[in-house]
Amino acid sequence: MKQSMMFIPTLREVPADADVKSHQLLLRAGFIRQNSAGVYTFLPLGKKVLQKVEQIVREEMDRAGAVEMFMPALQLAELWQESGRWYSYGPEMMRVKDRHNRDFAMGPTHEEMITSLVRDEVNSYKKLPLTLYQIQTKFRDEKRPRFGLLRGKEFIMKDAYSFHSSFESLDDVYEKLYEAYSNVFSRCGLNFRAVIADSGAMGGKDTHEFMVLSEIGEDTIAYSDSSSYAANVEMAPVITTYEKSQSSQDELQKLDTPGQKSIEEVSTFLSVSPEQCLKSIMFKVDDQFVLVVVRGDHEINDVKIKNIFNASVVELATAEETKTTLGPVGSLGPINVPGSLKIIADHAVQYIVNGVCGANVEGVHFTGVNPDRDIENVQYEDVRFIIEGDPSPDGKGTIVFAKGIEVGHVFKLGTRYSEAMNATFLDENGKSKPMIMGCYGIGVSRTVAAIAEQFNDENGLVWPQAVSPFDLHLIVVNPKQDDQKGLADELYTILNDKFEVLYDDRQERPGVKFADSDLMGLPIRITVGKKAGEGVIELKVRSTGEVLEITTENLIETIEKYIVK
Ligand code: ATP
Ligand code: MG
Repeated sequence: MKQSMMFIPTLREVPADADVKSHQLLLRAGFIRQNSAGVYTFLPLGKKVLQKVEQIVREEMDRAGAVEMFMPALQLAELWQESGRWYSYGPEMMRVKDRHNRDFAMGPTHEEMITSLVRDEVNSYKKLPLTLYQIQTKFRDEKRPRFGLLRGKEFIMKDAYSFHSSFESLDDVYEKLYEAYSNVFSRCGLNFRAVIADSGAMGGKDTHEFMVLSEIGEDTIAYSDSSSYAANVEMAPVITTYEKSQSSQDELQKLDTPGQKSIEEVSTFLSVSPEQCLKSIMFKVDDQFVLVVVRGDHEINDVKIKNIFNASVVELATAEETKTTLGPVGSLGPINVPGSLKIIADHAVQYIVNGVCGANVEGVHFTGVNPDRDIENVQYEDVRFIIEGDPSPDGKGTIVFAKGIEVGHVFKLGTRYSEAMNATFLDENGKSKPMIMGCYGIGVSRTVAAIAEQFNDENGLVWPQAVSPFDLHLIVVNPKQDDQKGLADELYTILNDKFEVLYDDRQERPGVKFADSDLMGLPIRITVGKKAGEGVIELKVRSTGEVLEITTENLIETIEKYIVK
């Protein structure tokens, strides 16, 4: 493609409202333009990258046995009313009416639509399993659209749905798609981790998120420094063993601690370390009050509380509720608590010797607390967040933290939608059963931005070849010089047969051409300049900065060392 015929509006200045690298560079290098908050046009270069990523996704999905189709973005409200999500989805769902005043959703996802389709068309176990996917525009009225393509209001998703007659079959397809996702993100060149995630409100069981490691990520990942173990930080179990100090047990004593509420205040006031303190917080678990206790240097993980009680809602009790149930916030503790109040304490608490806790009276604390002796009716559980330095839950290595951008999500839905929408099949014995489902998403446009976020330097983007809009950037330094123009034209024809070439034939100053070229970040640059007459040209590798002077005879051979077709 000749650059003079392309549409690549580059910018010298960093756009004021773009605060992450990928957003800045995709704008500056002429890949995207913003239309409104969270809504973007893919310019020709951006569209090419998008197509490359889509193609990788298609190849891996097809290989895993999934079949492509295409569903409407406009979805009748009735479908969403059947599943109940018309009412529960909230303001993130964009809703429109047609001229007959009928309600529609602009699809944020497609579980309802595909469940209704398969319900109407598939009735027998003989046609299962079935895995269908599409690559399509989704609409979500995000509270904070930001970071360019990373969180859009309108974005491109690959979504897949699988239907099964047994859980074994779901497990099998889940595993295949998990594999396919790993291949997709590896082929995109990304540094990512598949992390164990929270199945949360969707009511399923197994779920993994594919996270690209990046400082601007919104999620914290706990992963092992020496195995493939990775989990969303709230999902990681703590398997540490604690040691008990051998000191003799002091007597339990009440002390006045006026105005001292936080662990920091209390530990400073009494000159003890936060590890010696018991942090007690009142929670409301569904409708029951529960006192949760962790060591002062640990944090309570409410997902774990939710799982212990198999609860739907876990929230902090209000100050008022706390006071009426037990005592004032800031002076709570698990000693002398009414038998009716449930106490859950983290395992670490059991190993505290001569600790400190609130006495359930304003401005009073206990010292000399020895949990086995002093706390009654307590249940010890894993309720704290894992921290860096804890052993990895798989027993291999130590936990470290990183931030991640979620680019993909695989989820065992079970019968959540098939039951609500009556999608059943007849099994071998002619018995009607709800179909078992899985769903699998990839943020295709988000993946483009995640690649840009991981691959850039101070001069611009640095695309991995597999997703680069072109393989080669051919530049003629001075198109007015006949020998340069002649050789460049000739090379363009030859190279075009083997590679995808962007040929900068513009009448621009060399400085502009090189700066634009660095900004766009194609893997290899071939420059035809002053030595064109001798058949000598320059090859530059964008990622390493390596520069080679070569003759036209070994050009293709040299390029092939870098570009694998
Ligand atoms: P997030 O927690 O980032 O909001 P999600 O859990 O809402 O993601 P899913 O419903 O699982 O996302 O959607 C599947 C995939 O679509 C995600 O893994 C992500 O890559 C992508 N995605 C979700 N929301 C957006 C968005 N607003 N803009 C771009 N991509 C998105
Ligand atoms: Mg979301």
